[in-house]
Amino acid sequence: MPIKNRFAELQPEIAAWRQDLHAHPEVLFDTHRTSGIVAEKLSAFGCDEVVTGIGRTGVIGVIKGKSDTSGKVVGLRADMDALPIPEETGVAYASKTPGQMHACGHDGHTAMLLGAAKYLCETRNFDGRVVVIFQPAEEGGGGGREMCEDGMMDRFGIQEVYGMHNWPGLEVGQFAIRPGAFFAATDLFEIEVEGKGGHAAKPNETIDSTVVASHIVLALQTIASRNADPVDQVVVSVTGFETSSQAFNVIPQKVLMKGTVRTMSAEMRDMAEARMTKLVEGVAESFGAVAKLNYMRNYPVTVNHEVQTDFAASVARTVSGDCAPADLVMGGEDFSFMLEERPGAYILMGNGPSAALHHPKYNFDDEAIPAGCSWWAEIVEQRMPAA
Ligand SMILES: [Zn+2]
Ligand SMILES: [Zn+2]
Repeated sequence: MPIKNRFAELQPEIAAWRQDLHAHPEVLFDTHRTSGIVAEKLSAFGCDEVVTGIGRTGVIGVIKGKSDTSGKVVGLRADMDALPIPEETGVAYASKTPGQMHACGHDGHTAMLLGAAKYLCETRNFDGRVVVIFQPAEEGGGGGREMCEDGMMDRFGIQEVYGMHNWPGLEVGQFAIRPGAFFAATDLFEIEVEGKGGHAAKPNETIDSTVVASHIVLALQTIASRNADPVDQVVVSVTGFETSSQAFNVIPQKVLMKGTVRTMSAEMRDMAEARMTKLVEGVAESFGAVAKLNYMRNYPVTVNHEVQTDFAASVARTVSGDCAPADLVMGGEDFSFMLEERPGAYILMGNGPSAALHHPKYNFDDEAIPAGCSWWAEIVEQRMPAA
């Protein structure tokens, strides 16, 4: 039984919701209109509980099955936020907000999970509870983290969580997944090096912060080449290098550097941060300078749990007949915070030959709606079979 017939019927309605969301993008936590529409629709569908204001502008809906004797509670998550990118799709329903657009397809994610919620409220053909999770600020704001910090998992008794992202380049209606590490941890850092400024013609009277910072940049290269196991992935990139003076004849007092660290495991992440701290402080000290590392942990590694990944893949095969192995992604994903709190899985769903994610010509493909909604509904009906 592939695509559920009900979603073929509902597709035009769900596509209309999606296009309305597309025309009104909202970024980070400012998803006030979107959250309002989500809450209003969940109530209209007959959700047993609708709660707003979780993780600032996040929305939760609870749907009970025909029976609720299994004790099972499954969470399904969609993201709602758009990006600060001027749209160039030329579609009739293009963004009405200058400089913002749904360039990552979160309009499609929100509409599909709403479609699944509508179906699940109509049919309730399961034994247990579904918690539909609509989060703001996936694109850098950590909305998923804030919803977790608001106690969402315990409050609604969520036992497992599932998430989905559309994927350009994968055929519409097809799915891809991998167990274990999937999306990278995406940390940020700043390093301030302070020496002793002075005249460029008298370096002996200074502590040259530029020379010290240059040694630090080189030392950081040894984290990947000498500290990491060669079969593991770690990227340490210094992307900014700014001196406190731009004059030709001044040795600057300070240098400020910044950059990013990408890792695929908690161990590599801890190792990278620990080595950076030692190298930055130790190299500076050896020159008589002082350096401070500000290491900012952003999104953790998105780790798919084995059992739930196998299940998610088997559900994808039910819907589309196949489920491809996915490659590692060096981008980040804040569903990772939910997967740190509960077992679950994140799957990719084909968006066909569209422009890439975050491109001004990207658009979600409404033809993918029936497959995406069917996957959500099957996750629920197969995980918590009707008594
Ligand atoms: Zn994105
Ligand atoms: Zn996205």
